[in-house]
Order: sequence, then C-alpha cells, then structure tokens
Amino acid sequence: MYTSGPVMVWELAGRPRRASLPAEPVPAACAMCGRHATETVHVKHTIAGKSFTDQYLLSLPDSNRTCYACAWACTGKGMDQVRMWTIVARTDRTLPPSNPKAAFATEHVHFTSRADMRLVVDTLANPPDGDWLVCVAESGQKHTLPYARVNHGRGRWKVRMDALDIVATPEQFRHVFGHVIRLRAAGFTPEEIETLTPAVGRLTADTLPVWQHHAGELTPWRGSPLLHLAVFLPNKEHLDEYLTLYGPADQLGCAVPGRDAGLGRPGSDRPQELVGPGPHRAGDGDDYPVLF
Ligand SMILES: [Zn+2]
Repeated sequence: MYTSGPVMVWELAGRPRRASLPAEPVPAACAMCGRHATETVHVKHTIAGKSFTDQYLLSLPDSNRTCYACAWACTGKGMDQVRMWTIVARTDRTLPPSNPKAAFATEHVHFTSRADMRLVVDTLANPPDGDWLVCVAESGQKHTLPYARVNHGRGRWKVRMDALDIVATPEQFRHVFGHVIRLRAAGFTPEEIETLTPAVGRLTADTLPVWQHHAGELTPWRGSPLLHLAVFLPNKEHLDEYLTLYGPADQLGCAVPGRDAGLGRPGSDRPQELVGPGPHRAGDGDDYPVLF
C-alpha cells in the first residue's frame, strides 16, 4: 500500500533518475513526506532553493534530506518536471494514453492537461479499489504531487488542485459534476456556474427553468473547492460524452431550444485566465483554445 503520493507516482513511472539530482546512501527522514529512506538527496538540490516556496507544507522542516521520489517530484526544468501536468495514478488497469509530450507516462501513471480530463472525471466519479491518486494542475506553476493524498478505494477521497485540497465522496462529485455539465450544455459559462450568477440577458423563457433547477442543486456547494474543481474539469469537446455518462437522471435542460442560437457570446466558453507554465509549456497545438 502506498502512503506517499510522490513515491507512488515515481515508482509507477519506473523510478526515473535525473543526472542533476544526485542520490546518496544517507539514511534519513524525508523533509517533504516524512518517510524514512535509505537513499536520499540533500535539500540544497531541492527544497532549499529560492524557487521553492511551500516550506510550510513540509512534514519535517528540520530535516536536510529528501527521499528520491519527493526530490524528483519537486525538481526538473521544462518538460523534465511534473508540476505542469495533471496526474492520475492507479494500478487496477492499463490507463489510456497520456499527453504525448509527457516524459514520464507509463501504463499506470497518466499525465494529461486541461485538453482531456476524462480519466480524471472517471476516476473521481468511480474510484478503483486499492490505491489511487489524482492531482490537478490548474496554473501549471504550483507543485501538487508532493502534497497529493494517496486514496484507498471507493470512499471519501482527497485530491490536490494547485493550493486547494478537495475532499468529497464519489457520489458528491457525480452530483455536482452532473449539474455543472447540464448548465454548460445549456450555454452557461464556467464563471456563471461557479459563482451561481448568470449574466444579465442570459436567462430567457427557455433557460430560466434550466438555471433554476440545476443552479438550485448547486447552491449548497457555492464557494466550495468541489464546485471549483467540477467547473474546471469539463471542456466543450467532451461535453456530450460527459452528459451521457454523468448527466443527472432528471433530463431538464437536455434539449433547450436555441441552445446554439446565440446564447453563448464569443469566447464565453473560455476558462478563467490562466498563467502558462513558461516556454516549455505542454501545448497540444493551436486548435485548442485553452492553456494546454
Ligand atoms: Zn519523501
């Protein structure tokens, strides 16, 4: 059973090594995850640097060693690092292909971007038995893997999304995600859904009952990390697939007349402004209007 997110992903990725990250046979407790390791890396190569700003999240801030997995998870440059990726790790089955630019993908570690969050949604809605992990890169700038929880089985889970910890049950996720995608399908923007505040003029005789029903279901979740995640995940390209798999049993809003007749203003499907991960960002080409 895995207890450390970095260890799980590093081992399932085939224990990759970096020439720039010298491991030494120095037994120590890891400053990041707190585990004892026989082979460790001095923190001067990892978290002692000025660019590491999450010192308050360390398990053992007084240790000057990190285990190799944690060192690997929080270092690297450009495509050699992992923080720009959303990661799914699970061992119950062979996972779908990762983004082709992801250097460390294997059959049990899936690296993806906002362009395709389907395995993330699938895993959060229907977690596997056994160990699994999800961490979501929202900005691509924050380390998420070092602070990602390894979940065990199908109960309440915890996932890391930038600096947020999101805790929910699979049932709660399916509920919130289902109503979010129904509102997206009716033409409401991610911002409108997350704030539960439709733009002036968006509500018509057709859309008002759709809004009232699904936004009503989401009202208890206003301001919650779970609603933030559920709004972040779906993109237009996979909306129909999501509706088939996760649309709520009540079909209100399934076929709104005029859905495609000017309800959405140009650009209204664009997600919240994001900061790119720099010149080595993992682009999927110019045909996709979001960061990755
Ligand atoms: Zn560690």
